[in-house]
Amino acid sequence: MTVGDVEGCDLCGSPAFKTVIHTRSGRSLRSDFQVLTEDLVKYECDRCGLVRNGSRLDPTAISATYADEYQLIDQDVFYTVNGSVSRAAVFAEHIAAACQQTGREPLGRFLEIGASHGGLLTEMGRRFPNARFEGLELNHRVAAGARQTGHTIYDHPLETLDVGLFDGMIAIAVLEHTISPTAFLRDLHRRTKPGGLVILSQPTQDIDSHDICFADHLYHFGTGHLHAYAQKCGFTEVLTVIGLTQVPSYSLHLLLAEDVPQTYEWPGPPQRSRCVASFQQIESDLTKLGRTLTRLVQGERRVAVFGVREFFAVANAYSRLAAFPIVCGLDDYPEHVADKIYPFPIVRPEEAAAFGITDVLLTMNKVHYPIAIARLQQLGLAGHEVFH
Ligand SMILES: [Zn+2]
Repeated sequence: MTVGDVEGCDLCGSPAFKTVIHTRSGRSLRSDFQVLTEDLVKYECDRCGLVRNGSRLDPTAISATYADEYQLIDQDVFYTVNGSVSRAAVFAEHIAAACQQTGREPLGRFLEIGASHGGLLTEMGRRFPNARFEGLELNHRVAAGARQTGHTIYDHPLETLDVGLFDGMIAIAVLEHTISPTAFLRDLHRRTKPGGLVILSQPTQDIDSHDICFADHLYHFGTGHLHAYAQKCGFTEVLTVIGLTQVPSYSLHLLLAEDVPQTYEWPGPPQRSRCVASFQQIESDLTKLGRTLTRLVQGERRVAVFGVREFFAVANAYSRLAAFPIVCGLDDYPEHVADKIYPFPIVRPEEAAAFGITDVLLTMNKVHYPIAIARLQQLGLAGHEVFH
């Protein structure tokens, strides 16, 4: 089956869509930074404007990927001027602030879907001692590791989970991976006590980002689409936050499980998201990068990349960078870079001189460019901006 065109739009049911992205490069990017040997294809629903994956995907194969192959990063960190902070702590802080703002403190038994190594369970447990946080993680090996640190972790798919009702649910960066967000949200609803709190966070397409570059993000939601999904699946929205500190391309939603309506109909004109504009900007940036690479090769320069995470992965998948002779990668925390996934060494910027580096491509989030360029200038290195 394809997610894209067999049964129509998962949200509004319309069979009418247009292809808005088709790369034809035979390459696309998975959100764990693996490069897939298939085009990136995205469809946009004519009726509601929801953008969805259009390439062929087998649901059984997708489940198998999450159970075994998909790389869950253990020590995912964000960088701030005050040092690094864990991704789990960032999301826990946002959730705690939203709960405080709405007077909805988590109480009782909560389930986190996609609990990974249990980092958020730990952070939530610290902040909310009156609640108990359990996790669901399909990756058996990761689930076993999280159990060893004292967490209760289930490793069955949600649709087969039979461990009673929960007072609340948490799903961070999960909804965009589901084959049917409608089915997933209804499953959450069935397993949540009436009036229970459901906390969702995932990329928002109200804000420009590179989320559209991920082949395994099967849906790309604008805020209007999430409002509609909540209504369709029996939730009342308590709070929506668009754009989170440290994760500006994410939104956060606090929902209450109420009655599921008998029928649902998309209420108005389509909501247009930033998906297509975002992708056009990235394509333009990467075309310019191609010209920069040509100049660097002609000048026989020795080139490093500064930033070896999401932004590098996007450039690596969708430009000629993958075939370029990168001497080394620069990162302030090389020990946090997952399992040597790149064919060059990763070192701290101050160690670039030992590799004879002359030029550095800024393959990081552009918000970090001013600080990165100042640091490179101190080291006597030329920095080249990649994303604009
Ligand atoms: Zn639709």
